[in-house]
Order: sequence, then structure tokens, then C-alpha cells
Amino acid sequence: MLKYDSYDIVLQEIPDEVSLCLTITGCQLACEGCHSEHLWNPENGTELTHDIFRNLITKYKKTITCVLFMGGEWVDSELIALISMTKREKLKVGLYTGLNEKQMKRKHPILLENLDYLKTGKWIADLGGLNSISTNQVLKDLTTGRILNGYFLNNK
Ligand code: SF4
Repeated sequence: MLKYDSYDIVLQEIPDEVSLCLTITGCQLACEGCHSEHLWNPENGTELTHDIFRNLITKYKKTITCVLFMGGEWVDSELIALISMTKREKLKVGLYTGLNEKQMKRKHPILLENLDYLKTGKWIADLGGLNSISTNQVLKDLTTGRILNGYFLNNK
């Protein structure tokens, strides 16, 4: 069962979408300089049961256009179940992962088939995030193949 640390309605993480963003615990990547080390422990957080998730979607579906998962790809089957529930409500789905796209293709091909947006790339402090020209991170619209990093550079 996936667990979440927190959720919020966010406007900037996915351009032109209002996203219900859930932060999932159990991140296995241990990026140097991680801003949220408490997310590494899979014992932390609250179980994201289907009932809790359904209630969140019901509560916010008139406000949001997208559900964004920060992590969770380490339990494919659980994440796919939540993605399916989201799609049934005609909402888009995004995933922020520290893996790169090649690793996602190799380890989680089923997720790539079901996501609308994917942000890839470990946090590397020297390279910066999406608002840095030198970043290793990439935000892609998987439905069109378009790279969306430019939105963040323009908003700097
Ligand atoms: S992927 Fe994100 S949460 Fe996980 S270790 Fe890296 S910065 Fe931290």
C-alpha cells in the first residue's frame, strides 16, 4: 500500500493544469541534498487507501484538471490502480520521479503508457531544477512528446 505524506492543490508543477498533488513516501533514490529526506522512509505517512483517494477526487474534481503523484512508481500496481480511478473522472495524471526516462521505460513501461505528464531526473543541486538552464530534469507532455521546461525558464 502506498503512503502519502501530504497533498495540496498546485498551479505551477504542471503548466496550464490545476493539480491535486500527492507526495508519496518511500522514495528509494536518496539524492544528495534531497529537500525531503523524511520521504525516504516507507513507514512514514498515511496509507493512501482507495477510499481516501476517491474522497479526495470527489472533493476536488470540480477544481482540478490533473492529479500529480510525487513518487510512488516503486509500487507499479498500486499506482496504476490510482491512475485508473483518476482517468475514470476524466482527469489527467502526472508523475514526478527521480528516475530518468530510460530507466522509466525499462522498469515501469506500464506507467508510461498511462501517464499524461512525466518529470524525470534526480535532484542534483549543482544543476538546479526545472527553472535552471543547466538542469538534468525534464518535464514532458507524454501525449504530445513536448518538453515543457521552457515554461519554468520563462517564469524565472
Ligand atoms: S527523488 Fe526527490 S524525494 Fe527522492 S531523494 Fe531525490 S529529491 Fe528526495
